[in-house]
Amino acid sequence: MDLLKKRILLDGKILPGNVLKVDSFLNHQMDISLFSEMGKEFHRRFQDDNVTKILTIEASGIGIACIAAQSFGVPVVFAKKSKSINLPEDVYTSKVESFTHGRVYDIIVAKDYLSKDDRVLIIDDFLAMGHALLGLSKLVIDAGATLIGAGIAIEKGFQPGGALLRNQGIRVESLAIISSMDDRGVLFA
Ligand code: 5GP
Repeated sequence: MDLLKKRILLDGKILPGNVLKVDSFLNHQMDISLFSEMGKEFHRRFQDDNVTKILTIEASGIGIACIAAQSFGVPVVFAKKSKSINLPEDVYTSKVESFTHGRVYDIIVAKDYLSKDDRVLIIDDFLAMGHALLGLSKLVIDAGATLIGAGIAIEKGFQPGGALLRNQGIRVESLAIISSMDDRGVLFA
């Protein structure tokens, strides 16, 4: 998606550790007109899949998911990051290793909000190692719901997550795929 790629080139900052900082339009301040175009593009790609629910993970996926959900006309469920050691029984849960913080945490979704009748589209801001998406897809599978696929704003294609998920048969649609990122700048696939 050219609009997003141009914005990454204009405002993205490359940090050590293969981190792309996009706080000025995506992860802290949010450019809602850009989100709106991204939402329409996700809808264009998944409009024939009868999506009934969008699933994301707090915090940075929520804004993108909510705007996309307006195009689909479906609710958004966001997985909560749980700090409690004793998890309640009325939740689906899985473990995710954080790319940016390096620690492992539990994510939970109440069983009330995912059911076997749901056709779920996962939406997130970044795809790097694939841990967040794998954790979210486990919640969908545990609920007996149908996983339609994943819509990602920025995939770092030089990291293994995209291939890992696609090799498992998960449909991954990324709006911008970065093929390399170093002190010379960002290149797209
Ligand atoms: P993964 O689980 O695929 O390794 O990483 C996905 C999650 O890590 C995303 O939800 C995102 O919040 C965060 N993340 C991964 N790479 C980056 C990055 O380069 N920049 C930012 N801002 N977040 C990232």
